[in-house]
Amino acid sequence: MAETGTACKVAFVGSECYPFVKTGGLGDVMYALPRALTREGCEVRVILPMYACIPEKFKKEMKYIGSFMMDLTLEGRTFYVGIMELEMDGVTYNFIDNREFFDWGNPYTGLWEDIPKYCYFSKASLAILNYLEWIPDVIHCHDWQAALVPLYLKTKFWNSDLATSRTVLTIHNLRFQGICSIAHLKYWSGLSDGLFDYSVLIQGDDEANMFKGGLAYADRITTVSETYAREIQTPDFGERLDGHLRYHQGKLSGIVNGIDTDIWNSETDKLLAVPYTREDVLQKKWENKCALRQKLDLNQEDGSKIMIGLISRLTDQKGLDLIDYIFPKIMEDGRTQVIVLGTGDKRYENAFRYYEGVYKGDVCAYISYNESLAHQIYAGTDAFLVPSLFEPCGLTQLIAMRYGTVPIVRETGGLKDTVAPYNPETGEGNGFTFVMYRPADLLDAIDRAKEVFFGDRPGWDGIVQRDMEKDVSWEQSAKQYLALYEELKKGN
Ligand code: ADP
Repeated sequence: MAETGTACKVAFVGSECYPFVKTGGLGDVMYALPRALTREGCEVRVILPMYACIPEKFKKEMKYIGSFMMDLTLEGRTFYVGIMELEMDGVTYNFIDNREFFDWGNPYTGLWEDIPKYCYFSKASLAILNYLEWIPDVIHCHDWQAALVPLYLKTKFWNSDLATSRTVLTIHNLRFQGICSIAHLKYWSGLSDGLFDYSVLIQGDDEANMFKGGLAYADRITTVSETYAREIQTPDFGERLDGHLRYHQGKLSGIVNGIDTDIWNSETDKLLAVPYTREDVLQKKWENKCALRQKLDLNQEDGSKIMIGLISRLTDQKGLDLIDYIFPKIMEDGRTQVIVLGTGDKRYENAFRYYEGVYKGDVCAYISYNESLAHQIYAGTDAFLVPSLFEPCGLTQLIAMRYGTVPIVRETGGLKDTVAPYNPETGEGNGFTFVMYRPADLLDAIDRAKEVFFGDRPGWDGIVQRDMEKDVSWEQSAKQYLALYEELKKGN
């Protein structure tokens, strides 16, 4: 329960949430954090678009709650807002139904359509709270898709019951900001001219930026690790908003993500060939590794090879150009197998497919999105690569550690905050790290990992044990969010 004994009422507003719709880490956070907050005594409602791609089995469970018409755009055009509801494990999910906006796409379709879609979504999220007469202490908004919520709240809804609610805006990834022409945003948002100012929605000569406006108007800004909170205030990571964030630094803080330790639990994970615990990980991981090799048609004959996994959106952010550059060198020793699971830029999809052909039987490029295979890779591989150019928090290294798979990461953002470098002198640390974004530095980290894997097995097994013991749950972070909500509730 919350330390103060007072539960907070919190509305989460975001564009994706596992298990309904997920394209990346945001979907995981929107699922796991509300559940963790519920365990801390909060009452949480999650507001999402009713995308057509939500699986039928969930749609069938939803209840129709009501509907109304809402005005949007400069002309005050009216749009249907339907409210669907589903309850799961103590969290209430409200889906905003409007076929014009959400009946196509998966869920993003390109900025030109996404801007109207998320203007509508942000305004409708507030409108449904009023309709439901459910007035939260805090409205917690996520990423640019929900960034207009603080602006609508303080303008269009200033004299409604919701006016007492405070807002938190969390940056999961600053690269995506919802930028378009001023005319496009003015038209669709219907927000007043006064907000189209350089300190709020305008950037450069002729652009409007939804995230920028939200950051200016939110009561608090959080991001998903302390290091990323510092990094985004510098030109290298600030994505042109570093000055804006430095200006608002008084209300900016970093709270690291966790993972849902019920979903990611090697002891109970039904998707694994063999479940395992910290006690029998060394033997059972081997069995999972053999099963994975069999499933993916990888060579079995040489049992001593190190198996390295990568599960990722295949985009520039993830440091894949570094991997591409050194791939032959990674494979040179003939003692390495690599499994890649991901989709994204054709450039990387093709590069990994090419290496699969060159290193037949030792490389698998599984170009797809596949939840079950992801579980099996986390369990069956020995090491896990996350060499990102930038990484706000990163969940894959947390899941890997939880499954006793040693991460090899670049020291940036949440990767720096969650993976302590292995120190052979003291035998401490969780993985292998490098600092500079250079292929040779990544190769050096991989080689250091191999040195320990092949040359100091007790040292390696010690890392595996420590990683499985590490607390990567939401519990500590949920307490920090709760403390922030309580502060806001008190009016600080
Ligand atoms: P990001 O949000 O930048 O994509 P994160 O590391 O925060 O990266 O979260 C990625 C999440 O998506 C993890 O849960 C990871 O397991 C999952 N994931 C990414 N790509 C795939 C894929 N191709 N198949 C299955 N799961 C994937």
